[in-house]
Amino acid sequence: MESLWKKETGELQAQESQGKETYDVIVIGAGMAGILTAYYLQEAGKKVLVLEANEVASGQTEGTTAKITSQHGLKYSKLLRNVDRERAEGYAKANEEAIREYERLIKELGIDCQFEKCTAYLYATVDERVLKKEAKAASLLGIDAFYREKTELPIKVLGTVGFRNQACFQPLEFLKVLCQKLTVLEYRKVLKIKGQEVITENGTYTADKIVVATHYPIKNVPGFYFLRQHQERSYVLALSGCKKINGMYLGIDGEEISLRQAGEYLLLGGAGHRTGKEKRCYARAKLEEYARKYFPEATVEGFWAAQDCMPHDGIPFIGRYSWLTPNLYVATGFQKWGMTSSMVAALLLRDEICGMKNPYRHVFSPQRFLIRAGGWKFLIDVKESIKGMLTGLFYKKAPRCAHLGCGLHWNAEEESWDCPCHGSRYDKDGKILDNPSMRNLENKL
Ligand SMILES: Cc1cc2nc3c(=O)[nH]c(=O)nc-3n(C[C@H](O)[C@H](O)[C@H](O)COP(=O)(O)OP(=O)(O)OC[C@H]3O[C@@H](n4cnc5c(N)ncnc54)[C@H](O)[C@@H]3O)c2cc1C
Repeated sequence: MESLWKKETGELQAQESQGKETYDVIVIGAGMAGILTAYYLQEAGKKVLVLEANEVASGQTEGTTAKITSQHGLKYSKLLRNVDRERAEGYAKANEEAIREYERLIKELGIDCQFEKCTAYLYATVDERVLKKEAKAASLLGIDAFYREKTELPIKVLGTVGFRNQACFQPLEFLKVLCQKLTVLEYRKVLKIKGQEVITENGTYTADKIVVATHYPIKNVPGFYFLRQHQERSYVLALSGCKKINGMYLGIDGEEISLRQAGEYLLLGGAGHRTGKEKRCYARAKLEEYARKYFPEATVEGFWAAQDCMPHDGIPFIGRYSWLTPNLYVATGFQKWGMTSSMVAALLLRDEICGMKNPYRHVFSPQRFLIRAGGWKFLIDVKESIKGMLTGLFYKKAPRCAHLGCGLHWNAEEESWDCPCHGSRYDKDGKILDNPSMRNLENKL
């Protein structure tokens, strides 16, 4: 299940570090968030080391569809309903600025990564009224948004909301250039963070500040991120031979399909579910059925999956890891919008670590507590966690997760053991595939 990007780009070459020096900042995790954060900190004059458990961009970033957009589903009407206007405005501005910053950086460094500006659309096939509200909310918050009925798609659509001046790119070609400028140590899985020390499988490294950019934070306490978000998995088909589309699309009702053009390929994503909650072998079949219906001339060239962290209140956690850890930082909870969120994280963490003011600090602060926006989802997650832990304790036929002991579910589609509580995944032999678990399964499969 190799992604299109991985096929095109192959392995990314990172600079190796020679000795065991002391660094100003260690960034743990070399995905989009970690590499961008390291890059901006280094540009600001910091001596930075990146530690990566596997290879650069081998995590969720490899599986992204790489839309660079502030259009995060029906985000702005929800934010206006659930949080104060200033926070909603901050969220919109930070993400819009992230798009402009990608454009500036790619131009400045001359990166050839198929960066293209385009319009992003949400489309409705059942009820378009919510889209009218979304267009109004986004415009109110400063986004160049509009409502329109017609699209270029071969799908019967009732209405769309478009955001102008959005973009897309080839994420691995972009990261390839950045990581050549950084010191990245691959195959250095971090096992523990102890004060200023970062302990890996292959030695200990020290820094004044440490950034956890491991997709799902690897330290349970403090921070308690496992109580504040869950993970959702989705799937992508790469299709060839269909008519090219100009915009990027996301369905908000019905089948909730994501579409974007990537060179010769049309990327068709969807069939999302909470990780560990779909036992059937159905995602590929569902997406192929959709492709046959709307793009009958298409040939399937690739299929892959990835997952992301979904914070209860719908806002990423970017900033101090916890009140108790002044030198430890985090970037997580990107809710399948990690391209702009990673850029927001990189700029915010650079400012925070360099002692500069960032206007969006309070918007993304992990120390916030937004009960109206996240309370209900928190209760659902607590229920799922209790259920998972009880299954782990009493249902002996399923293996138990090495993270917090929850009962694992077999994922027939990908032949993996998945945790429905926090989203850790293992292959059929018990080898760890996805965080937050840090260990392979020891209990019998
Ligand atoms: C199907 C799908 C489509 C998506 N499409 C889009 C899109 O179009 N636009 C968009 O904005 N977002 C999209 N997203 C979301 C986006 O892909 C992610 O939010 C983003 O890639 C996450 O980047 P990251 O750097 O946080 O995580 P990752 O890319 O997972 O990077 C984390 C890194 O940390 C490393 N690591 C983990 N544990 C350790 C450890 N203990 N020690 C050292 N290293 C460690 C991992 O190996 C990994 O390389 C999509 C998500 C999915 C699931």
